[in-house]
Order: sequence, then C-alpha cells, then structure tokens
Amino acid sequence: MNETFDTIVVGLGAMGSAAAYHLTKRGQNVLGIDMFRPGHDQGSSHGYHRMIRKSSFQVDGYVPLAERAFALWHELEEESGQTLLHITGEVWLLYENGKTGNRAGVERSIARGFRVVLSEQDLAGRFPGCRLHEGMIALYEAGAGYL
Ligand SMILES: Cc1cc2nc3c(=O)[nH]c(=O)nc-3n(C[C@H](O)[C@H](O)[C@H](O)COP(=O)(O)OP(=O)(O)OC[C@H]3O[C@@H](n4cnc5c(N)ncnc54)[C@H](O)[C@@H]3O)c2cc1C
Repeated sequence: MNETFDTIVVGLGAMGSAAAYHLTKRGQNVLGIDMFRPGHDQGSSHGYHRMIRKSSFQVDGYVPLAERAFALWHELEEESGQTLLHITGEVWLLYENGKTGNRAGVERSIARGFRVVLSEQDLAGRFPGCRLHEGMIALYEAGAGYL
C-alpha cells in the first residue's frame, strides 16, 4: 500500500463507522478496516433495531452524548432521506430497591425531567400488557424510541 491516511479506523460497527464517517466529513482521508464485509451480523451493532434514550441510570456524562446522538441521527435522516429514528416513548418497570443505586438513579432522571412515574392505573390504561409486581414502579420516558 502506497497510500497514506490521516486516520485508520479498525472495526466498523456503530462506533467505528460513525468515527470514520465524521472524520471523512471533516476532510480527513480515512481508511476503515473490518474483519468482515460491510453489512455482516457479527458485531454488537448488528440487528434490526436498537433502543435510544436520553436518560441514564449510570453516569451523568452519558446525557450530553445521547443528546448529540439524537442530533446526529436526525442529520443522517436528512442526508439519507430515510426515517431512522422512531420516537415511541419507553416504559421501564423496575424494582425500586432492587439494585444498588436504582433509587438514586430514578430520582435523578425524574428530577432532570427525563422520566415520569406512571401510576398503576396509568400504566394499565396506556400499556395494557404491563403489570406491576409488589415493590415495582413504572417510569416513562416520552422522548425515547428506537432506531
Ligand atoms: C443484543 C444486544 C442488544 C443491544 N441493545 C442496545 C440498545 O437497544 N440500545 C443501545 O444503545 N445499545 C444496545 N446495545 C449495545 C450497542 O449495540 C453496542 O454498544 C454498540 O453496537 C457497540 O458498537 P461498536 O462499534 O463498539 O462494536 P461492534 O458493533 O461490535 O463493532 C465492532 C466491529 O469491529 C470488528 N472487529 C472486531 N475485531 C476485529 C479485528 N480484530 N479486526 C478487524 N475488525 C474487527 C467487528 O467485525 C465489528 O464490525 C446492545 C448490544 C447487544 C449485543
């Protein structure tokens, strides 16, 4: 190979292909390498859909990244002329005190306006297939969906 590249991305799943795409858009000469042909089904990114949300139970640093991801998916929809992001809302049924940190995470995501608590009645009305067991709560994130 005589050609040189500004960046070589090894692994072209969601992360690598996004990195390669955006570096190329910024004018870099990028080489992407994968052990399988594009469109393969051997990585974590592969499959028909993935869920997307802005809230996180884990770390606050996730939120700005998720917001940026929503913006970039919208940009990609415009560029490709395809609908990729479907906002459906997401319901979480969880044991409030089931896992360490759940309660704090729940409170944080409610306080930040990502999620609301659904009463048992609301849940049954809006999501008839869902039932709460003893000690569970239902959280709803209106802005979540799938790709
Ligand atoms: C079953 C499942 C469900 C999930 N659901 C969700 C969801 O709903 N929402 C969500 O946000 N996330 C979800 N995730 C997580 C998300 O899919 C992953 O975090 C994301 O796809 C990781 O992307 P990646 O590019 O890092 O890795 P991958 O998509 O795995 O890409 C890695 C790429 O590197 C290539 N590669 C590996 N080794 C080599 C090598 N030695 N040389 C060359 N190429 C190599 C592989 O072929 C592959 O193409 C889910 C994951 C799984 C497995």
